[in-house]
Amino acid sequence: MIEAIDASIKERLGNAEKILITGHIRPDGDAIGSMLALGLSLLNADKDVQMVLPAGLPTAFSHLEGSELVQKETEGDIDLFISVDCADFSRIHEDLQSFGMPAINIDHHITNEKYAEINLVEADSVATASILTEHLPVWGLEITKPVAAALLTGLITDTLGFRTLNMNPKAFRQAATLMELGIDLPDLYYQALVSRSFKAARYWGAGLSSLERDGQMVWAVLSLKNRKAVNYHGNDDADLINMLSAIEDSPVALIFVEQPKEMVKVSWRARGKEWNVAQVAAQFGGGGHRAAAGATIKGSLDEIKPKVLRATREIL
Ligand code: AMP
Ligand code: MN
Ligand code: MN
Repeated sequence: MIEAIDASIKERLGNAEKILITGHIRPDGDAIGSMLALGLSLLNADKDVQMVLPAGLPTAFSHLEGSELVQKETEGDIDLFISVDCADFSRIHEDLQSFGMPAINIDHHITNEKYAEINLVEADSVATASILTEHLPVWGLEITKPVAAALLTGLITDTLGFRTLNMNPKAFRQAATLMELGIDLPDLYYQALVSRSFKAARYWGAGLSSLERDGQMVWAVLSLKNRKAVNYHGNDDADLINMLSAIEDSPVALIFVEQPKEMVKVSWRARGKEWNVAQVAAQFGGGGHRAAAGATIKGSLDEIKPKVLRATREIL
């Protein structure tokens, strides 16, 4: 089965000239690292590659080689469309949805809808970058030093520095192999996971001051007002959720991040193998993994919050 998928991907890559690669909206280190790794290795194979993120590349990843090639728009025709780290078609940016369904979908989300012609989906992989580390050489693509840095960034970010519940020996072996290509792991780790802007730290402060707890759940709220007050430019939680998930006696953490146009982005994190927060996220049109899931929900904070907390309490 996997051999057949590898063979068809290799064939499609071989026949394609103009390749479009994208990751999911609100791209994280795995989406970006995976897109760069595949894109750079295909460029090395003399393909015409466009790596496109219509909302631009988050500055936190601009240290990666190849990030300067990331475009906001496509140019000219495309003969092969590939999505990475993207569980469903609705998480492809709307500007790119006019290209139709991707031909190739490479991902590790348990909720992946297998929307492409060829779906390389391995839910037991810690990151899409882990799948690529294994499969790029099978497709005849070389893992050069910049490709290794991109892959390692995906591994580090999706495992929060090799400590998530789904962490496995294979990912450590892959990280070791990538490091052997000359990657400065401490530097990459700092850039991808530790370094924060001063604005982001103040934004955390606003979120932390809203902290509440009930039973096994702990949660915080970040409003548009909070964001404006500290002049934080992202529309995300600046990874505050990962701090909430460290709070003792609260195995399930949530964050509600208010968005423009009456939308709320909710993130869930669970500690302990018994909870499956992807299941709750799916009830709200989102998805993700057992221990980390998200959804973007229509409605005001005041409407969404009690509904989401009630649904989450049901799985506890
Ligand atoms: P986040 O809370 O955005 O950090 O996401 C946690 C996990 O859930 C990641 O693996 C995301 O890819 C996934 N996820 C987040 N939002 C959605 C969504 N709206 N639909 C499907 N998966 C999502
Ligand atoms: Mn991702
Ligand atoms: Mn991922």
